[in-house]
Amino acid sequence: MRNNSASPLWSHSAAEPPLDAASGDVFEGPAEVALAVIGGGFTGLSTALHAAQKGLDCLVLEAQQIGHGGSGRNVGLVNAGLWLPPGAVRAKMGDSAGARFVDYLGHAPAYVFDLIERHQIRCDPRRNGTIHAAHSPRGFRDLQARAADWHALGAPVDLLDAEQTTRMTGTMQFHGGLLDHRAGTINPEGYTRGLARAARAAGARIATGTEVTALERKGDHWHLATPKVRVRARNVVIGTNAYSGALWPALRDSFTPISFFQLATAPLGAEAAHILPGGQGLWTTARVMASLRRDADGRIIIGSMGSISPGLSHRWANRMLQRLFPELPPLGFEAAWHGTIAFTPDHLPRIHRLADGLYTPMGYNGRGITTGTLFGKALADLLTGTPEQDLPLPLTTPQADAMRHLKAPFYRLGFALNQLVKAI
Ligand SMILES: Cc1cc2nc3c(=O)[nH]c(=O)nc-3n(C[C@H](O)[C@H](O)[C@H](O)COP(=O)(O)OP(=O)(O)OC[C@H]3O[C@@H](n4cnc5c(N)ncnc54)[C@H](O)[C@@H]3O)c2cc1C
Repeated sequence: MRNNSASPLWSHSAAEPPLDAASGDVFEGPAEVALAVIGGGFTGLSTALHAAQKGLDCLVLEAQQIGHGGSGRNVGLVNAGLWLPPGAVRAKMGDSAGARFVDYLGHAPAYVFDLIERHQIRCDPRRNGTIHAAHSPRGFRDLQARAADWHALGAPVDLLDAEQTTRMTGTMQFHGGLLDHRAGTINPEGYTRGLARAARAAGARIATGTEVTALERKGDHWHLATPKVRVRARNVVIGTNAYSGALWPALRDSFTPISFFQLATAPLGAEAAHILPGGQGLWTTARVMASLRRDADGRIIIGSMGSISPGLSHRWANRMLQRLFPELPPLGFEAAWHGTIAFTPDHLPRIHRLADGLYTPMGYNGRGITTGTLFGKALADLLTGTPEQDLPLPLTTPQADAMRHLKAPFYRLGFALNQLVKAI
C-alpha cells in the first residue's frame, strides 16, 4: 500500500489492475468509429460496454487514466434512487414521469450488482444495504417521511430507531436511520476498471492519457481533436460529468461543482470490529453531509463535503471518529483525497442532446454509480435503435445555472469553516 495523500485509497486497494498494465497496448489512431466516448468513468465505460456488446464500433478517449474523475474517488455507496426523496422527484417531474424514474432507479443497484457478477468484476461488492443516519431529531423526522414515502411504493427499506442504529453502526451518536436493502457498497475504482476490462473484452477500444481538445461537426460526422490521435465518429457521448471543462462550455456552466473529501485509516483489527459490523456504508442527514464506511481490509473511511486541507482534514477526521467512537485510540490515515460532484439546480440528473449525434448524461448529484451505469446503457440502447421515448428521461439541452459563480465559492467557504469548527 502506497502512502500517497494526493491519490484516492481505491486506486491502490482495487483488486482489478489498472487497465494499461493489464492490456499493454496503446491506441495510436487515426480512427473512424461509429461511437466515440469521451471520459473513462462509469458513464463512458458503461456506454462503451453496452454499445460494444450490441456490435457498435466504439472508442473511449480518457484524458487521464480510467477512474480519474468521480468514479475513482467516491464513497462506493451503490444507492437506489436519487438524493431527493421519491415524493420530491414526483413533484418536480410530474406524477407519472417521476414515478417511472423513481422505479427505474430503484432497480438500479440490482443491475449494477448483476453486471459485477456477470463480468466477475473484482470490486468487493457487498449487497447488504446502506444506512441514511439521522444526525439530529430533525434528521430523524426527515427519515420518517422518507420511509413512509418508500413504504407506499413497496420498497424494502426499514426505519431504524436509535437503539437499532447503534447496533448497526457501533455508535450512539445517531437518532435513528433508514436501512435500504436494495443498496450496498463496492470499491468504486475496482468497479470502474472492471467496466473498462469488460468493455474491451466486448470489442471497445480505450485510449487513456488522451484529452479531447475540440469537437467539430463536418458533414454527418464529428471530428475529435486530441494531442495524439484524430478521430472521426458518427456519434459521440460525452461522459465528463463534474470534470467537464472547456470542451463544451455549456456543460460546465450547467451545474455547481461541489467537493467531497475522504480519509482512510490503515486496516484495523478487532478494535474496530463493532463499527458497521454488517458492512453497510452510511451517510448522514446533516446539511453538510458526512459519510462513513469500512472497506474489505477493515479500514475506516470517513468523509464530508469540502476539500482536503493538509493537517486540518486529518484533525477533522480524528475528532469526528473520537466523537463517534470514543473507545478508539487516535488513528493515523493512509490516504486522503477529494473529488468533485456535479450538483444541478433542481437536484435531478439530465440526458442532454447537444447536437445531432452528440449526447451527454450528467448531473448525478452524488448518485453516479447506479445512474451513470444505467444512463450509459440507455444511450447505447438509443444509438442502436431503441426509441427515444424509452429513455429514462426526456432529452434536454443544458441550461446555464446563473448562480453557480456565487454558489460555488459560498459552499467552498461554508465547507471549509465547517471542517475548521469540527476539527476543534
Ligand atoms: C468524493 C465523491 C463521493 C461520491 N460518492 C458517491 C457514492 O457513494 N455513490 C454514488 O453513486 N456516487 C457518488 N459520487 C458521484 C459519482 O462518483 C459520480 O457521479 C460519477 O463518478 C460520475 O461518473 P462519470 O463517468 O459520469 O464521470 P467521471 O467519473 O467524473 O469521469 C469523467 C472523466 O472524464 C474525463 N475527461 C474530462 N474532460 C475530458 C476530455 N476533454 N477528454 C477526455 N477525457 C476527459 C476525466 O478525466 C474523467 O476521468 C461521488 C462523487 C465524489 C466526487
